Amino acid sequence: MRKIPMDRPVVEIDGDEMARVMWGWIKEKLIEPYVDLKVKYYDLHVKVRDETDDRITIETAEAIKSVGVGIKCATITPDAERVKEYNLKKAYRSPNATIREILDGTLFRAPIILKNIIPAVRFWKKPIVVARHAYGDIYSGVGLKFEEPGEAEVVYRSFSGKEARIKLPRLEGPGILQAYHNLDSSIRSFARASFKYALANNLDLWFATKDTISKVYDARFKEIFQEVYEGEFKEEFENKGLKYEYYLIDDAYARAVRSEGGFVWATKNFDGDVISDLVSAAFSGSIALMTSELLSPHGYYLSEAAHGTVRRHYYKWLKGEKTSTNPTGTIFAWTRGLRERGRRDGNEQLVAFAETLEEAVKNTIEEDRIMTQDIARVAEPPVNAIVTTEEFIEAIRRNLDKLLEKKGILS
Ligand code: NAP
Ligand code: MG
Repeated sequence: MRKIPMDRPVVEIDGDEMARVMWGWIKEKLIEPYVDLKVKYYDLHVKVRDETDDRITIETAEAIKSVGVGIKCATITPDAERVKEYNLKKAYRSPNATIREILDGTLFRAPIILKNIIPAVRFWKKPIVVARHAYGDIYSGVGLKFEEPGEAEVVYRSFSGKEARIKLPRLEGPGILQAYHNLDSSIRSFARASFKYALANNLDLWFATKDTISKVYDARFKEIFQEVYEGEFKEEFENKGLKYEYYLIDDAYARAVRSEGGFVWATKNFDGDVISDLVSAAFSGSIALMTSELLSPHGYYLSEAAHGTVRRHYYKWLKGEKTSTNPTGTIFAWTRGLRERGRRDGNEQLVAFAETLEEAVKNTIEEDRIMTQDIARVAEPPVNAIVTTEEFIEAIRRNLDKLLEKKGILS
C-alpha cells in the first residue's frame, strides 16, 4: 500500500496521562499506516516541561510559527497537588495559555454532531461553534473589598502624561468593587479571527454584548466588530450568502436555544467560558465529542481535543485495567490538523484522508453503533456494544479501510 505523502511537516505536540496513551494508539493505528507523516515532534509531558523550566513550551509555539500548523495532545496544568505527584520544581502555567499568548490566537470549540447522539435541545441540528475572546475582562481584573461607606474612582494615566478619571457612585459600604480592561487591538484580532473562521466554514457569525447597559465598554466591542465587518468582510459574507448578526447577550441566549444551530458565536471572555461548557454538555453530554481549534490573525493554526488528560482513567490504566476512554476528540485533533496542512499545501489526498477518517469515526458510532461508555448512555437508538478504547480504535480502522478502498484514496 502506498502512503499519502506530505510536503511540509506539522508540529506534533505530545502530552500527558490517558490522552498521551490514546495519542500513541491513534498515531500507530489510524495515521501512520496511511500517511507518510512528516512531523516536528515536541514533548510537553509535564516532566519534560519541568526539566526544561518550561522552555519547551515556548519552543513548541515557535515551531508552530515556523511551519504554520500544530496538533496538540492534552497536557497537565500543574497545581499544588500535581507538583507533589510529579515531583515538579514549580506549578508551571498552562501550556495552552503560553502557546495562545505567543500565537495571539482565538479558540474555536465545535461539537461533533452525530445523528444518534441526541442534543438536550431538540431543535439543534447543526453545530454551534463558540469563539471565545481569551483576553482581559474579569480574567485580568482587580478587586477590592471595603469596610465602610466611602467613594472610589478609577484614574487612567498615560505614559505621556494624560490623565482621565471616572467616579463610581457613592459607596454605602461595606462592599466590593472591581475594575478591568480590554484593548482595541485584541478585540480587533478576535473579531478578524471570528469572521475568518465563519467564512472558512460557511457559517453565519453572531456577536452579542450588553451595550445598552455597558455604554462604553461593551459598546466599544460592538463598534469594533462592526468596523471590521464593514471594512474587511462584508462583501465576502454577502457573496457567500452569510450573515453577521449583532444581538444583546440575553436575546442571543434565548435565540440560540430556539435556533437549529449552524453558526459561530463570538463571545466575550466570560460568556465564552460559560457558553462553551453549556453548549458542549447540551450537544452530547461528553466533552470528548468536541473539537478545539486555535486560529491566529497571523495565520498560525493549532488543533487539539477539548478535554483534558482524563486523569481518573489513566490511574485505572496504570493498574492494568482496560478503559473505555473516548478517543474521538483526539482523533479529530489529528484530522483537523492534517486537513489544514493539506489545504495549505494543496495536498488534496491528505485532505481527503482526514475527511475520510472523520467519516470512519462517524460510521462506527452511527452505523455500527459501537461506542465508548461516555456517549453510550445518551445514544438513541441504543448501542450495540460498549467497547474499550482499543476496540473502538480497531472498529474505526475497519471502517477507515473500507472507506479508503471504496473512494480509491490510497491507490
Ligand atoms: P478531563 O481530562 O477533561 O476529564 C474530566 C472527566 O471528563 C473525566 O474524568 C471523564 O469522566 C470525562 N472525560 C473527559 N474526556 C473524556 C474522554 N475522552 N472519554 C471519556 N470521558 C472523558 O479533566 P480532568 O481529569 O479533571 O483533568 C485532568 C488534567 O487535564 C488536569 O491536570 C488539567 O490541567 C488538564 N486539562 C488539560 C486541557 C488541555 O490540555 N487542553 C484541558 C482541560 C484540562 P469520568 O471520569 O466520569 O469517566
Ligand atoms: Mg468554562
